[in-house]
Amino acid sequence: MKLPRALSRPVTMDASGQRNWLYPQKVTGYFSKRREWVSWALLLFYLAVPWVRIDGLPALKLDIVEQHFIIWGTTYWPQDVKYLVFVLIGAAILLFFVTSLAGRLWCGWACPQTVFLEFVFHRIENLIEGDRNKRIALDKGPWNAVKIGKKLLKHAIFLAVGFVIANTFLAYFKSTEEVLEWIGRPPYENWGAFLFMLANFVVFYLNFAWFREQFCTILCPYARFQSALVDKHTLQVTYDYNRGEPRGKVKKAEGDCIDCKACIRVCPTGIDIRNGVQLECIGCTNCIDACDNIMERINKPKGLIRYSSEAQMEDQQQRLIRPRVVIYASFLVILSIGFFWSLAVRPLVEFTIIRAPGEPYTLLEGKTVSNHLSLRLLNKDQVDHNITVKVSGAEDARLIVPVQPFPLPANSLKRMELFVNIPQANMPSGKQAITLLLFSDDREIAESSTFILGPIL
Ligand code: SF4
Ligand code: SF4
Repeated sequence: MKLPRALSRPVTMDASGQRNWLYPQKVTGYFSKRREWVSWALLLFYLAVPWVRIDGLPALKLDIVEQHFIIWGTTYWPQDVKYLVFVLIGAAILLFFVTSLAGRLWCGWACPQTVFLEFVFHRIENLIEGDRNKRIALDKGPWNAVKIGKKLLKHAIFLAVGFVIANTFLAYFKSTEEVLEWIGRPPYENWGAFLFMLANFVVFYLNFAWFREQFCTILCPYARFQSALVDKHTLQVTYDYNRGEPRGKVKKAEGDCIDCKACIRVCPTGIDIRNGVQLECIGCTNCIDACDNIMERINKPKGLIRYSSEAQMEDQQQRLIRPRVVIYASFLVILSIGFFWSLAVRPLVEFTIIRAPGEPYTLLEGKTVSNHLSLRLLNKDQVDHNITVKVSGAEDARLIVPVQPFPLPANSLKRMELFVNIPQANMPSGKQAITLLLFSDDREIAESSTFILGPIL
């Protein structure tokens, strides 16, 4: 069956490179209803998380400026970057796994761009300007009082919603208290924060009010490499060309497709799924519902457009378990085991030893070698510790610490200067290995080794 060729340029662009503004029609149906439930749950989650506190700490705060992340009441410092690497690699492999099984499930069901655009901004637009035909007529019509009023109202609401979305996004990086304080202050008191918030807000507003589906069809890199992740057994939103073609008007059509174009009118990226799987298809399922509604009306079985695979279209057996699926799943399992194991054994107090700048050693009276060391202590624990430092590994080594024990508050970084003194006679080679031990109320909680340097005898 020969299908029409897809356009070689994005649907949202005409031959001269100008934007083709899309007017997706509202659709109802089995998948739309479920996607709506998922979207409301995700929106609620997005808006609520920055306000949730666990033991007084934000449930999620990715503070890049202060160099720490708080995730579900636990603070992660730059020293924990390996966990972030685990999470990022895990998320990428999970995306590969899901894509190889069911195509762009993420894009159609959970991507913030789709959720905000389709279930927030398109809804507002529909409410104010009406569905597709009314919106087209309004845009083509003259700039009279009704049109100006509707456009002003729509953009005023877009601005208000964009403001909430953008500042909620900020609250994932700064706490809600800080963001509210920034909002409440006049701009001249903190131009840096004001301009950052303004830029963030303008980007969100322009994206959803103007740039829209072009983010998916032109910008998003995922669409570009998804073709490398799918094969003929991957489930995707597919037009059943065996059943649908040859298409034609009702009663004249030999196939089931009556060429009503309902599937195109509801498509948020403006494509014709009958041209085959395309890069612009975000798997939103709108065309499934639109076509099912038409099939119901003309008394034909539903599913002319459905979740299916190339293999099913060619009457081959659908295989769920394939080498690529097994490889992605295996990587995911191995990575998850490694991640949870490393989290379980994650030390809650860590320290690094840094040699103080200048001469590596001082020779004191009585032939004692003294090294000035600097400790960088990090308490990732939720409780305060009372720290005592001890030294081992060298005979007659003595530690000079300004104060012992000293407090190390929960979730804090501290620097402590100390000296290690060793009789020169005990280190004739000029180098002596030592271990510094950290005790919290007589319980050893961390240790680290270094060398004490001195003159060679
Ligand atoms: S909605 Fe169904 S019947 Fe109508 S054009 Fe699309 S595939 Fe054909
Ligand atoms: S072709 Fe269908 S599934 Fe793909 S983006 Fe358009 S409406 Fe959504």
